[in-house]
Amino acid sequence: MTDCLFCKIVRKEIPAREVLRDEHVVAFHDLNPQAPHHVLVIPTVHADQLTAFASAASGAQAASLLAAAAEIGGTFPDGYRVVVNTGKDGGQTVGHLHFHVLGGRQMTWPPG
Ligand code: 5GP
Ligand code: ZN
Repeated sequence: MTDCLFCKIVRKEIPAREVLRDEHVVAFHDLNPQAPHHVLVIPTVHADQLTAFASAASGAQAASLLAAAAEIGGTFPDGYRVVVNTGKDGGQTVGHLHFHVLGGRQMTWPPG
């Protein structure tokens, strides 16, 4: 059993405002939202980064993560953004793969 923060959310040891949960994926509101709607989508299996997940995950696990991000993003008819901060340079602060799904405002480019 891992001590990881997001694994604890998967196991419901830490509360989160969940919007979706199934065998492969949990989605919940970010504690510190960066847009009017800011949801994190995570795999229920632990993987620290996208690369590790891509090589270890089953097709069903990978497809579920993608489908959940698309389902949540699809609720924003004017568009949305999916972000995967990865490693130090990517600004990742929690070592369990997560897709940020951000919506409800005009995004800017380039990202900071
Ligand atoms: P990262 O910086 O790794 O890309 O994103 C981590 C995200 O997790 C941040 O946006 C941060 O606000 C969020 N976060 C950190 N701890 C918690 C928590 O305990 N609960 C929730 N819901 N979000 C968290
Ligand atoms: Zn984890």
